[in-house]
Amino acid sequence: MLPYNKFLKNQFWDIIRIWYIININMIKLDFQINKYYLAYLVVNQSNKLANQPSAELLLATKLKNLQKRLVKNYKNNPAYYFIYLAGYKYIKWVIEQIYLSDIEKSHNNQLEIISKDIQKIFQTIFNSQEFETILKETIEYKNFVEHQWNQNKSFVFNYLEEVLGKKLANLSIKIIIVHPVLNKGHAVLKQNLIVWGHNEDWQNYTTVYLAHEITHILFNHYKIKLDNLSHALIELITDNELRIRLNQKGKYFREGRKHVGHPGLRQMEKQILPSWCEYLQNKKKNLSLFLNQLKK
Ligand SMILES: [Zn+2]
Repeated sequence: MLPYNKFLKNQFWDIIRIWYIININMIKLDFQINKYYLAYLVVNQSNKLANQPSAELLLATKLKNLQKRLVKNYKNNPAYYFIYLAGYKYIKWVIEQIYLSDIEKSHNNQLEIISKDIQKIFQTIFNSQEFETILKETIEYKNFVEHQWNQNKSFVFNYLEEVLGKKLANLSIKIIIVHPVLNKGHAVLKQNLIVWGHNEDWQNYTTVYLAHEITHILFNHYKIKLDNLSHALIELITDNELRIRLNQKGKYFREGRKHVGHPGLRQMEKQILPSWCEYLQNKKKNLSLFLNQLKK
């Protein structure tokens, strides 16, 4: 038998553990910046940035200049085409350069040279004044995202538990933050990873879309297949209902002048909207069951 004080101690930790399980949401988000991924996006997306609002035109011009310089300096280096995708049409030339050039002369392994050259090009990008600006602004943006998320996360988790009708899974999710001008938002389901960086189009935009991507990961965890129906449901759950509850205003499918959600899913969303509203009134919710009923 345990001595009495040891018994008490054990019980104490049991109670703490149970309290923790009941009260702490077990989804953990880890916000990070990946310099290589950021540089890769900058190299490949600077053309698209020309359409950005005027405040960001300066940034777009800067990035275009960087891109032009890189093309000028590295267009004859096969390594550049491992970063710069627009050059994919030269891939045959790239591969032949790697396998055929000077192997006998140099005795160096060409693949090793390539990987060193890729590193060198990334270092050139990292050292540029343009990338310094992008990185600095991305770090600031990451702070903004984390701050907003921390303010809203309890609300989001409680809401998700309510609509899913169960405790949230114990998950650790990596969030790769990129510059908001790059307009990125998607989940890599197998890796529990989310790429995020987007203009704050309306109040709590970041929170709503992080919740959207987290719900994708949760659905995947609960083995709910991703198809148009489950995706439409995710948009009703997060883009619409969560947004309205969080902001205590707004309506479905619209926020100010902006449409909300994928245009391709809207018709289906309107079709299941009456059932969804009924489901929200239901005291004993079970989302998997609800989804199966919708399929019938
Ligand atoms: Zn989605």
